Amino acid sequence: GGGTLEGTVALVTGASSGIGRATAQALSAQGATVALVARRADRLKELADEILDAGGRAVVVVADVADEDRAREAVEEVVRQCGRLDTVVNNAGVMLLGPVRGAPREEWRRMVDINVRGLLAVTHASVEYLVEAARSGPRQVADLVNVSSIAGRTARVGTAVYNLTKWGVGAFSEALRQELAPEFVRVSVIEPGATTTELITHVRPEVREQSASRTAGVERLQAAHIASSISYMVCQPRGVAVNEIMIRPTNQV
Ligand code: NDP
Repeated sequence: GGGTLEGTVALVTGASSGIGRATAQALSAQGATVALVARRADRLKELADEILDAGGRAVVVVADVADEDRAREAVEEVVRQCGRLDTVVNNAGVMLLGPVRGAPREEWRRMVDINVRGLLAVTHASVEYLVEAARSGPRQVADLVNVSSIAGRTARVGTAVYNLTKWGVGAFSEALRQELAPEFVRVSVIEPGATTTELITHVRPEVREQSASRTAGVERLQAAHIASSISYMVCQPRGVAVNEIMIRPTNQV
């Protein structure tokens, strides 16, 4: 007991791997009950067991956030099981790189479905619970943290559609921040640079080589570094909103 997030419930999408997994652990370490959302049930159960073994509380909700109805149900399931919702981390995402010319449009569809439509669906389903948490919850403040990217601020050849989705996340977050600020629901955005996760493994092999050459020599961040920044945002006192964090490996240009 005694953590800053004691008595609160935090939903993390994409909790089965990488940044989402580390974020769930970090918020749990601050005392939050964490709701783990992603598609891979085995991974989520393993993480839930780890959190329980460490003395925390976790629930697993298997869901594909690209399915809007399922995304909504997942949020409802969390509130049913945990009774409330104080923190949402929209982290689930995919990065499918390559030139626009000749790109498989299925990759574009997946990025828009997960990075944009999934984030919107989870947000839409959560927002009234967050307002309620800010009104009557233990901290009198609630958080929506959207995971964008350096790619949400800097466009490059070979990342056009990923840039589009993450730019959109940044714009949406700022507009929603203004809408919810009077309610004491903080909307913030984090923009990580190169971080060691499974993200790159979904990129087509021929494209992966090109993109790897761009970050050659960069000492990548660990998912835990991003998680501690997210935790820093969420753990601020009620009157303090850290709206945006851009975080890169020191030698990433
Ligand atoms: P990982 O591939 O390791 O993790 C992605 C997570 O998203 C997994 O848990 C995956 O779970 C989940 N996910 C993917 N699709 C869906 C879906 N349809 N429904 C539910 N969950 C889904 O990558 P990262 O941890 O790196 O990525 C997390 C976020 O960080 C992404 O938004 C990414 O764009 C962003 N980011 C990452 C950077 C990096 O260098 N790694 C840099 C900047 C931003 P499952 O497959 O089980 O569904």
